[in-house]
Amino acid sequence: MNVNFTEEELAFQQEVREFLKNHLPQHIVEGTANNGSVFVEKDIALEWQAILVAKGWAVPQWPKEYGGPDWTPTQKYIFSKECYHAGAPMLIPLGLLMLAPVIMAFGSEAQKTNYLPKMLNGEHYWCQGYSEPGAGSDLASLKLKAESDGEDYIVNGSKIWTTHAHLADHIFCLVRTDVSAKPQAGISFLLIDMDTPGVSVEPIITMAGDHEVNQVFFDNVRVPKSNRIGEENKGWGYAKYLLEFERGGGFSAHRIRHEIDHLRQMIARTRQGNPDFDRYGDLARRLARVEIDLKALEITELRILSVVSGGGNPGPESSILKVTAVRLEQAVNELAVEVMGYSGLIMNPVTDGSPVRTDYLSSVVPRYLNNRAASIFGGSQEVQRNIIAKLVLQL
Ligand SMILES: Cc1cc2nc3c(=O)[nH]c(=O)nc-3n(C[C@H](O)[C@H](O)[C@H](O)COP(=O)(O)OP(=O)(O)OC[C@H]3O[C@@H](n4cnc5c(N)ncnc54)[C@H](O)[C@@H]3O)c2cc1C
Repeated sequence: MNVNFTEEELAFQQEVREFLKNHLPQHIVEGTANNGSVFVEKDIALEWQAILVAKGWAVPQWPKEYGGPDWTPTQKYIFSKECYHAGAPMLIPLGLLMLAPVIMAFGSEAQKTNYLPKMLNGEHYWCQGYSEPGAGSDLASLKLKAESDGEDYIVNGSKIWTTHAHLADHIFCLVRTDVSAKPQAGISFLLIDMDTPGVSVEPIITMAGDHEVNQVFFDNVRVPKSNRIGEENKGWGYAKYLLEFERGGGFSAHRIRHEIDHLRQMIARTRQGNPDFDRYGDLARRLARVEIDLKALEITELRILSVVSGGGNPGPESSILKVTAVRLEQAVNELAVEVMGYSGLIMNPVTDGSPVRTDYLSSVVPRYLNNRAASIFGGSQEVQRNIIAKLVLQL
């Protein structure tokens, strides 16, 4: 395998670096570094998205016909790496990287024309309505009921743990359209405007002090059947397709590498003039362990990228990415808290549900606490391991 970039690729890398130097605003870099939450603030993400859209670089994963830049896998890899290196935020993936592939693959022409451009220009901001009280790992037992009424469905029930539902104007939902069929066979995939009468959102404050997740209630919500993706009662297949992109759609290795860069800076600062630094005796060994595993993750991501670039979907291997990325990111979070020592005990005051964050250090503990949830959302680690055992290892 040739791991060297060609002349053209090196020129592209230079072009990306120049662009980031000239167009990535410092306040976005700072907002990203100081963020302890799963996604950066919505306004920061949308500001950066608009800059990338103007350049035609917002969604390298999208095919050219929908506005993607038509890059090779290596160009996508270079772009992602340079963005993280420069401190740019990840764009919010809920619409752009999770729902969009489903609309492209299974949506009607009208849905493609209506939703994809608005998602791209930031006019629509999506959240994901899969989980319910009593239906998480066992997602097929979901109960949000959608009853047929002429050209519409009437939706009743609730979704829970809905990330950014309080900020979103649209939600994609799995709904039960046939209660008599086998659980997987009676599910449909529905797009719902959050402004529809009967939709309400209640906050859930996490142990990190964030307002990030919510419970969404549906009380006789009327949704046109034309908002259904694909066929009625075939939603389970579309839902699983989306989950592959949720778990394996990006380059987590670059993000973790960037976290390690911050960690190394923290270690250097802490070491200066600190005669007790010996207490970090095995820090170097543990960090090296993470970095070695990170290399393996990076290679696996590249392998999946080349499958997706060839027109395929990430497949069950995406579960390997999810399990490994979460394990490594949480290991880096833990090391960062340890390096902070007793300073890590001090949490910032919590105001209206959001901790006050002034610099990177003050986001270390919130990030550690927030990221505990990564072993749960997108499908828990245990459930991913079951998928790997069954579908990848054929056990
Ligand atoms: C911060 C956060 C954000 C989230 N955002 C969203 C969102 O935006 N949209 C959305 O739809 N959902 C979201 N979720 C929900 C998430 O997908 C579910 O929490 C997850 O699927 C687990 O479901 P559950 O909470 O019902 O736990 P359960 O399914 O009840 O699992 C409880 C425990 O049992 C284990 N377990 C369950 N089944 C098995 C099994 N078969 N084998 C071995 N172990 C098993 C699990 O690993 C877990 O440890 C979010 C969750 C969190 C924490």
